[in-house]
Amino acid sequence: MDCLFCKIVNGDIPSNKVYEDDKILAFHDIAPQTPVHVVIIPKMHIACADEVNESNCDVVGHIFLKIPVIAKELNLDGYRIINNCKENGGQTVMHLHFHLLGGKTLGEKIV
Ligand code: AMP
Ligand code: ZN
Repeated sequence: MDCLFCKIVNGDIPSNKVYEDDKILAFHDIAPQTPVHVVIIPKMHIACADEVNESNCDVVGHIFLKIPVIAKELNLDGYRIINNCKENGGQTVMHLHFHLLGGKTLGEKIV
C-alpha cells in the first residue's frame, strides 16, 4: 500500500522517533506548527478516525494511554491533541494520526 506513514512504520522512510512500542509510533512532525509537534500513529493501517471500529479501536485507547508518557518525555506542561479526518477535515496523510502540539502557551481557539 502506498501510504507514507506505513513506510515510516516499516523504516522505508526515516523519522525522528520519540516513542515506539509494538502497537504505536510517535515522531516529530516534519513541518512543526508549534515548538513541539509530534505525530502519533498506530502501526496498523487505519485510514482515518472514520474507519475506527470495534475490531481496531483498542489501538486508539493505547495511543491515549501513552500520550501522557510521551508528553512527560517531551516536558510538555499542557498540550493540544488534534485529529484531522478526511479531506474536508484537513487530513493530508490518510493513515490515522494524532497531532500532539505544545511547547508554548496555546490559545483557547482551534480555528
Ligand atoms: P494531516 O494534515 O493531519 O494529515 O497531517 C499530516 C502531517 O504529517 C503534517 O503535519 C505533515 O507535516 C506531516 N508529515 C508529512 N510527511 C512527514 C514526514 N515524512 N515525517 C514527519 N511528518 C510528516
Ligand atoms: Zn498506512
